[in-house]
Amino acid sequence: MQISYLECTRCGEHFPADRPQNTCPTDGGVLFARYDLASLKGKFRREDLSGREASMWRYAEVLPDAKPVTLGEGFTPMLPSREHANVYIKDEGLNPTGSFKARGMSAAVTMAKHYGLKKLAAPSAGNAGGALAAYAAAAGIEAHIFMPRDVPIANRMECDYYGAHVTLVDGLISDCGRMVAERIKKDRSSGNNDGGFDVSTLKEPFRVEGKKTMGYEVAEQLNWKLPQAIVYPTGGGVGMIGMWKAFDEMEELGWIGSERPKMITVQAAGCAPIVRAWETGRSAAGMKSASVTKNAAATWISEPWVDAATFAAGLRVPKAYGDYLILDILEKSHGTAVTATDDEILSAVRHWASVEGVFAAPEGAASLVAYQKLHASGFLSAEDKVVLFNTGSAYKYLDMIETQEKKARHEQSAARHIGGIIGPY
Ligand SMILES: [Zn+2]
Repeated sequence: MQISYLECTRCGEHFPADRPQNTCPTDGGVLFARYDLASLKGKFRREDLSGREASMWRYAEVLPDAKPVTLGEGFTPMLPSREHANVYIKDEGLNPTGSFKARGMSAAVTMAKHYGLKKLAAPSAGNAGGALAAYAAAAGIEAHIFMPRDVPIANRMECDYYGAHVTLVDGLISDCGRMVAERIKKDRSSGNNDGGFDVSTLKEPFRVEGKKTMGYEVAEQLNWKLPQAIVYPTGGGVGMIGMWKAFDEMEELGWIGSERPKMITVQAAGCAPIVRAWETGRSAAGMKSASVTKNAAATWISEPWVDAATFAAGLRVPKAYGDYLILDILEKSHGTAVTATDDEILSAVRHWASVEGVFAAPEGAASLVAYQKLHASGFLSAEDKVVLFNTGSAYKYLDMIETQEKKARHEQSAARHIGGIIGPY
């Protein structure tokens, strides 16, 4: 559908969608694409979806009106858990390029092509880079990707093979993001606009549009009854932000009611800025409500995480640009935020693989850890219908998983050698 306008999620200001936009020039707020859903209500119905192609573009009426650059992304399986009744695994590992990032990049590159952009740039913790490279290749657009030097080898190789220009950085995704911004700024100030267009997480409006289709799918695949909770591994948080937007849109379309799932963030214990902000905010006496205006005023933000370290590469995001949106969603949905250690994540990767037949990315397996913890604490009951997101395929992390295995085995054997104190083995 034609986008009516882009709206700042901080100040509510409107911007035209007929040209490329990054963030709100006044306050840096994330821009959301808005459609005329009122006039779509009744015309675009749930029944209209039957028989449509099994990709995220089946929801074309609520996506930008442009010719899709598609590799078949979306409409991934919703697998009932073999282990827990009422639990589902939404397996995003089956997307092109092996992760949920395909959705966002399909939408972002579609619009980049629509606008006639020739060059795109983005920092990546790994999978976003691979997805951007693939969709840019399919669209005939140049991609410039900045990644930490120690990303999984699959991410480096796929970017290379897709023909992207890759810069490996001694640092984290936040350092990569700074480099992208600086390069574009420098190019602009020198009068040539050749630095490319910044498609960093939440710094353009359309990656959210692609990822919101996960929210539509959760509803459609569960027969239009949203679950009681959704567990989402949170790095940049766009999946959660997109799904929340989708729920609001579906309510406006008359497809669902006002009930929402508890939205649950899981982060790695070695990089948990959202969890820390959530816990600090919850425990602060007389804390101001995070949602003081309908546009999620930025009263509640996270602090950058120092020395971020985890083998779940996609969760190694020291500070999410959309933290104010994520925290707002956690609060409005009565959700929560929990951590998983690398050891717990590694065990969960093996557990899911051996019990469910799902070889999940470490980020995805963290969802299982969160479920186990929240079930044990009573936050979730066995009767609650819960969707756990596996955000990617383990096949992209074989080197990381093997290294982590060796580390865990080494630590175990070291523990065993402390004078026989720990044993017997
Ligand atoms: Zn604004």
